Amino acid sequence: MPTLSRPAYGESSKRTAVERTIRNTIISLVKGDITHEQTDAIVNAANARLAGGGGVDGAIHRAGGPEIMEACRKIGGCPTGSAVITAGGRLKARFVIHAVGPVYSDGRHGEDRLLSGAYAASLELALQHDLHSIAFPAISTGIYGYPIDKAARIALETVAGFLRARDGLTLVRFVLFSDSDLAVYRQTVQQIAGDREAQDRRTRGPGD
Ligand code: ADP
Repeated sequence: MPTLSRPAYGESSKRTAVERTIRNTIISLVKGDITHEQTDAIVNAANARLAGGGGVDGAIHRAGGPEIMEACRKIGGCPTGSAVITAGGRLKARFVIHAVGPVYSDGRHGEDRLLSGAYAASLELALQHDLHSIAFPAISTGIYGYPIDKAARIALETVAGFLRARDGLTLVRFVLFSDSDLAVYRQTVQQIAGDREAQDRRTRGPGD
């Protein structure tokens, strides 16, 4: 598998395997701390009040300094399933996109749609601000309790669907916090590729 070495995107790029390319965009998966990323934007798993919290949210505010919280206070809030953008403060990333994923209850409360919306809104904001690279954590899979396998599929399918339709991004990186989360994402990439191949075969028919 080819390996990327693009120091411009931060420390983890040394360990980045190219998992997939969609049109002109690389989708990569790494294990790491998202606050170290040098992509144009990093995405925060925020809450609807943009009030800060634990997990990745706490880490981003600690690393980025008070400027980010000041900007969040001015914005005031963000509906679940959507995202807002602020400057990145002291982070290496110039921007933080605060995406609000759903709390997972039983999967019958629109969770999939809301999680997908949080990813799509983040990508949309990146394009609106002419950004080319973006790093996502596994939104909603910590305190908000989303099962990692379900969340990985939604994250990867939403990003893939967006990239098939839209130009402008060169790199979408998923930064996973544990080996097991990274393994689930890798497996999900393979599953999605397998599903697409099977679908293509069905479309082409047996004789083609
Ligand atoms: P949520 O409330 O949306 O569930 P959390 O921050 O609790 O958000 O968790 C989201 C994901 O972010 C989890 O998979 C957690 O392990 C991961 N995470 C926590 N800290 C970091 C970090 N510094 N970098 C990347 N991922 C992180």
